[in-house]
Amino acid sequence: MRMPQVNGRYIPNVKAPRTADNEEPAAERAQDFRPVDKGFTKEMAIAEANRCLDCKNPLCVQGCPVNINIPRFIEAIRAEEFGRGLDIIRESSMLPAVCGRVCPQENQCEGVCIMGKRSEPVAIGQLERFLGDQPELASKPAIAPKNGKKVAVVGSGPSGIACAGELARNGFDVTVFEAFFTGGGVLVYGIPEFRLPKAVVKREIDGLQELGVKFEFNSVVGRITDAEELFEQGFDAIYIATGAGLPKLLNIPGENLPNVFFANEYLTRVNLMKANNFPEYDTPTKHGKNVAED
Ligand SMILES: Cc1cc2nc3c(=O)[nH]c(=O)nc-3n(C[C@H](O)[C@H](O)[C@H](O)COP(=O)(O)OP(=O)(O)OC[C@H]3O[C@@H](n4cnc5c(N)ncnc54)[C@H](O)[C@@H]3O)c2cc1C
Ligand code: SF4
Repeated sequence: MRMPQVNGRYIPNVKAPRTADNEEPAAERAQDFRPVDKGFTKEMAIAEANRCLDCKNPLCVQGCPVNINIPRFIEAIRAEEFGRGLDIIRESSMLPAVCGRVCPQENQCEGVCIMGKRSEPVAIGQLERFLGDQPELASKPAIAPKNGKKVAVVGSGPSGIACAGELARNGFDVTVFEAFFTGGGVLVYGIPEFRLPKAVVKREIDGLQELGVKFEFNSVVGRITDAEELFEQGFDAIYIATGAGLPKLLNIPGENLPNVFFANEYLTRVNLMKANNFPEYDTPTKHGKNVAED
């Protein structure tokens, strides 16, 4: 597919409708927990990139919390230079495969996209995901020379791993301490497989390890060690990214009864400990016909 041009100038395809998501048919996806959305093919990505107006004042960049240079990476997709596109995203975000899937784009970049005022916004999240799913095309990220500083990051959710990636790129020696046996925080125990596959999160964490970030799993800071001990061990700073895992108790009679689950506990049982496959896996849960939700 060729980039639409007149006299060598790019002409956006403003009349084209937004490229529809590449979803499994509803009747099939209702049968299992496979990802609902298969992501754009190359042809779909280029067609969607051709809708971008390449705005002089790209509001999408202002709408992005980390100000990714969106029109530049979309232009790279149009030129079919996918590795270059991924490098552009990685200047601002180390987690494009995750963010392309679960960022609330409709309230951020896509919510303010100028195309949205004429028809429908450019599918920026899908384009980010398209590039994020091809990490093998990216250049090796530039890493600043080691600066001799050590940082402990407590928690490996999106906050912890984003911080760890930025610090590692800037020459810091980073160790992430994670309470669970695996990394990702809510990305793995909260968001279900059909929306964000665990393999995608693992791939992003593997990428951080390649940058030199060390991970200590099964390590509850506060139990195995505390802040003072971490400083004694030579860490210069500690970044606390422990999330908001504790439930807000309702203080009502019966809330501690068996089969009353707080959301995070229930999600962790199913998403991480595979309680939906009990007794094949050790962790049980309750499958009731009548469920009360608050
Ligand atoms: C069901 C669900 C769906 C969601 N869907 C979306 C979505 O689609 N899009 C979106 O943008 N957001 C979504 N969110 C919100 C998003 O997941 C959170 O905002 C985000 O995960 C917070 O990141 P975090 O790194 O601060 O904390 P967390 O992801 O909670 O990670 C904290 C980590 O710290 C670890 N930890 C805690 N205490 C210690 C300790 N003492 N020592 C060592 N490790 C510790 C925990 O085990 C955990 O791994 C969703 C949340 C839920 C629950
Ligand atoms: S605001 Fe929309 S149309 Fe304009 S550059 Fe950004 S993505 Fe393209």
